[in-house]
Amino acid sequence: RLRVAGAVKRYGQVTALRDVGLDIAAGRFLVLLGPSGSGKSTLARLLAGVEKLTDGTIRLGDALVADGRSHLPPERRDLAMVFQDYALWPHLTAAGNVGYALRRRRLPTAEARRRTHAALERVGLGAHADRYPHELSGGEQQRVALARAVVAEPGLLLFDEPLSNLDADLRERLRVEIATLTRECGATAVYITHDQSEAFALADEIAVLDRGRLVQLATPETVYRRPATPFVARFTGLAG
Ligand code: ATP
Ligand code: MG
Repeated sequence: RLRVAGAVKRYGQVTALRDVGLDIAAGRFLVLLGPSGSGKSTLARLLAGVEKLTDGTIRLGDALVADGRSHLPPERRDLAMVFQDYALWPHLTAAGNVGYALRRRRLPTAEARRRTHAALERVGLGAHADRYPHELSGGEQQRVALARAVVAEPGLLLFDEPLSNLDADLRERLRVEIATLTRECGATAVYITHDQSEAFALADEIAVLDRGRLVQLATPETVYRRPATPFVARFTGLAG
């Protein structure tokens, strides 16, 4: 379960998030929608712990991971991230990149290796375990990033436009893989996209941000049938 209350983030004069609250049950898939600059990535970075809250609280499971004063670093939160630019370590192979996510588990080497290869198999890259990122296509690199995110079976998976650098065909295939993998590992997901059809295909719930405010949090069906504001109706492109 993911709970955010009264989240505020200011960068100097700019207020990127204003009083955002969320309560997402474990295992649910939340999609964040909103125009450029509405605060989607800021919220993802606060959840990840790579930015600090100005005010408010974030709880993951039973743990308070951040408030206005204290802050757990990313590696101590039970989560993993997948971003638009794959952010693989260039000097590590596919297996090295995936295995890196297990380093804190202190597993016996054989067990770490077994899990790493199982994760690469799950994304169809069992045969590419020893390749370096520059020897993989963009889609393959993003699959490695996906395997790395799920290998430690975190409670929360964060995706910030993970497919936006890929062509339409690949986007569709990887979207299905993301849905399957997330469900298999039982994680709660927060997924940012600009693509409405992706949002409606993946989401159990959709959160719409408008200039740093959360204007609606509801099922896709409710967002479709009863948009909370004219902005939501216009933005989701489903009015009338
Ligand atoms: P996009 O769809 O373009 O990725 P976004 O919804 O992810 O947009 P954010 O990146 O969260 O938007 O940015 C929200 C606001 O905060 C913007 O006005 C942005 O300029 C500002 N902002 C984000 N990061 C910083 C920063 N490090 N310093 C100052 N302002 C920032
Ligand atoms: Mg962004």
